[in-house]
Amino acid sequence: YHAKRNGHAFSCFDADMDRQVADRVNLENDLRHALADGQFSLAFQPKVDFHKGCIVGAEALIRWRHPERGQVSPALFIPVAERAGLIGAIDDWVLGQACDQMAQWRAMGLDIPAISVNLSPAQFHDGRLKDKVKAALARAHLPTHLLELEITETMMASDVDRAIEILSQLTALGIKVSLDDFGTGYSSLAYLKLFPVSALKIDRTFVDDLPDDAKDGAIIASVVALARNLGFAVIAEGVETQGQADFLAEQGCAVMQGYLFSRPVDADAFAHLLAHGLPGLKPRWS
Ligand code: C2E
Ligand code: MG
Ligand code: MG
Ligand code: MG
Repeated sequence: YHAKRNGHAFSCFDADMDRQVADRVNLENDLRHALADGQFSLAFQPKVDFHKGCIVGAEALIRWRHPERGQVSPALFIPVAERAGLIGAIDDWVLGQACDQMAQWRAMGLDIPAISVNLSPAQFHDGRLKDKVKAALARAHLPTHLLELEITETMMASDVDRAIEILSQLTALGIKVSLDDFGTGYSSLAYLKLFPVSALKIDRTFVDDLPDDAKDGAIIASVVALARNLGFAVIAEGVETQGQADFLAEQGCAVMQGYLFSRPVDADAFAHLLAHGLPGLKPRWS
């Protein structure tokens, strides 16, 4: 009975593994066509100033509408694209599309805030990054301050001197860079003071259990103080509840991003938010 049971379990496991491998290969093949077939789009999630009650920026997030599977999460396909060597082309598309979209909004007469784009490790270390950024901005006739970049701490771990050099080049162009998922990766305080970044983006794992979790609360307070003392702006991601927002604002982290304010939305919906404001978001200080 046991042997049979185990045998059964084992073959199940086997089939599962096969399916996972096949899944990855399929995903990889499908990714190769996705760009040319126009299956990618961008969603935009507002960054809001909780005190002023207004939108102060947005993050561009890639969306993949697979012809059979429907929406596939970037958390799933970005790692596949990285391993398959397809991420460079995807990142280029995101950069170009974000800039072109900003140009379209401006042509509509909208006053747009800075839009941030996520960089993969490969894109960050690509020697052509600075030129790619310049070209995308020039093609869309955009001032540099409208484009921001998000990188993670981990991207800088391999070669700190080189990372500082890349960041300095971007900063010299007038591009602001923020450290995404801050607190979850490689964070050496010795290096943090050397990185020419403009903002720390507190990872949502520290926000999830606010305001009840005292340790997370202490981490938030400490990161806010660290940011202030080192001259970085600070933003919290993944804000879902009023209680979290109130706590963050009280701690001095007024800029936030999360479902409480808005999910990532398509370009038309974001234009509507820009023109009419976020429903329910009002200045706190009167
Ligand atoms: P990220 O850069 O940290 O982006 C934030 C993620 O949190 C997004 O997931 C966003 O939809 C989600 N989020 C925002 N507010 C909330 C909230 O209140 N609650 C919860 N539970 N989640 C929230 P998304 O769009 O699925 O992206 C996942 C990750 O994929 C991103 O993490 C980023 O690392 C990567 N990614 C997304 N778009 C791009 C891209 O264009 N290029 C590259 N290289 N990576 C991207
Ligand atoms: Mg990000
Ligand atoms: Mg993040
Ligand atoms: Mg995150």
